[in-house]
Amino acid sequence: MFDLKGKVAVVTGGNGGIGLGMAQGLAAAGARVVVAARNQTKSAAAVRQLGGQALAIAVDVADETSVNALVRSTLDQCGRLDILVNNAGTNIRKVPQEYTLADWHHVLDTNLTSIFLACRAAYAPMKVVGGGKIINIGSMMSIFGVPFSPAYGPSKGGVVQLTKSLATAWARDNIQVNAVLPGWIDTDLTRGARRQVEGLHENVLRRTPAGRWGTIEDMAGVAVFLASPASDFVTGTAIPVDGGYSVLG
Ligand code: NDP
Repeated sequence: MFDLKGKVAVVTGGNGGIGLGMAQGLAAAGARVVVAARNQTKSAAAVRQLGGQALAIAVDVADETSVNALVRSTLDQCGRLDILVNNAGTNIRKVPQEYTLADWHHVLDTNLTSIFLACRAAYAPMKVVGGGKIINIGSMMSIFGVPFSPAYGPSKGGVVQLTKSLATAWARDNIQVNAVLPGWIDTDLTRGARRQVEGLHENVLRRTPAGRWGTIEDMAGVAVFLASPASDFVTGTAIPVDGGYSVLG
């Protein structure tokens, strides 16, 4: 039920953090993983770590031409595309009144428009192989607001709505589209946040029922579930992986 042998999975931002955690799960379940990110030194290290048939393809997820080339190159090198994890993301932390339009576009383009572009490019190849699995990474900010991320929250709220739209559009094509909403996971992104936002580390520990930060390994299981036949009747959902953060009243 969880076997991914013979499947090809593209993981954007798969060279570190949550993307690498998910890529490790997919590779362990048998998938051939394409690590799709900008920094090729980091991507080469991730490919070594993943072993097997993993490979790296450079992409800027915010760039339409680059995303289309990623899918073309995946098909050229791997012959098919079954699983797409839209994980690449960024944040610019400032109060709203100091946000520039360029800041806004940068965050929206990287976190949300990127997913539209990658899903659109992946649709035809997935249809050709009889179906596919798309996993979009949202956030606790898909649900909650914070004062220091006026573009990140809207981008991640949009990820959930885009997921629902694509899920309903493509269900008859046997393409399942789901979102994962990570809680606070220890990565480069949140190490930056901890430096910038005073008290964040302690607040997360206090507010998370599990009493700890998540690890990238915590993200592997949900990726395998949503990429495998085990989830064939699951589509359009947004699954928190958060140690209970989102349900604590
Ligand atoms: P990291 O900073 O560790 O990873 C971000 C990844 O995105 C990197 O691999 C980076 O690779 C890639 N990336 C960024 N911009 C681009 C781009 N324009 N084109 C291609 N790749 C890009 O962060 P996380 O692992 O923490 O975050 C991964 C996802 O999870 C993000 O969407 C984030 O919003 C989300 N998330 C994280 C949470 C956490 O607690 N850590 C909580 C909730 C959501 P490179 O620089 O090489 O391009």
